[in-house]
Amino acid sequence: MGKVYLTGAGPGDMELLTIKALRVVKEADIIIYDRLANPKILKEAKNGCEFVYVGKEDGRHTLPQDEINETIYQSALRKDVVVRLKGGDPFVFGRGGEEGSYLKKRGIEFEIIPGVTSAVSVPAYAGIPVTHRGVAVSFKVITGHEAPNKKSSQIDWESLKGDNTIIFLMGLHNLSKISKKLIEIGKPKDFPIAVISRGTTKDQKVVISTLEGVVDAAKGIPTPALIVVGEVVKLREELDWFKV
Ligand code: SAH
Repeated sequence: MGKVYLTGAGPGDMELLTIKALRVVKEADIIIYDRLANPKILKEAKNGCEFVYVGKEDGRHTLPQDEINETIYQSALRKDVVVRLKGGDPFVFGRGGEEGSYLKKRGIEFEIIPGVTSAVSVPAYAGIPVTHRGVAVSFKVITGHEAPNKKSSQIDWESLKGDNTIIFLMGLHNLSKISKKLIEIGKPKDFPIAVISRGTTKDQKVVISTLEGVVDAAKGIPTPALIVVGEVVKLREELDWFKV
């Protein structure tokens, strides 16, 4: 039986791949990868390495998660080095935990290789620090996949009132609902918000706006994109550095 490496591919910029991730990519007999993983990484694999695309966009999979789990498991039965390559970090909305426990139950050895998560690095490439002395002493990363007014929503919106920096992943299609909800819980209409699309890549686009204006401002921006809410957004005026 083989060993599975649940591996973070980083946010896009190939150089944000860790040395450890690069090592297992080079050693891999099979790489099972997502849409968010930079395809250039696959070029580092050895001759004869098998590639399996399982897709993933805003939480929607080409393959359902249970089939992905089974694909990884079956790969480990026939290959020695199995790399499951995922965008960002495997444990930050990456479902790496589910994949790990599926393998554990079936007696397959695995390792987690953390990656540079988009939640922090994509704002950084837009010149937005998620914490900043005197401005933000905390940040929270939330799934934007859940519509704010859904009855079964697990997000405690009221608890976000005092939070400094809020980062939504998978939230672009709910941008309107999210910004309205934040105003509803008491954030000012002109509160700063950024939408960052395809961060850390040459296609990076950054929209700086207010809770009230963001839907119009971010119209048509492509995925993947994340949302940053908080006073730290204004620091981009001084810290913008990444030239695409
Ligand atoms: N495990 C990943 C997140 C997976 S959820 C990580 O740690 O980064 C997928 C979401 O991540 C997308 O919907 C988007 O909100 C965000 N995302 C990933 N890569 C991104 C990028 N290059 N630019 C902007 N957002 C990105």
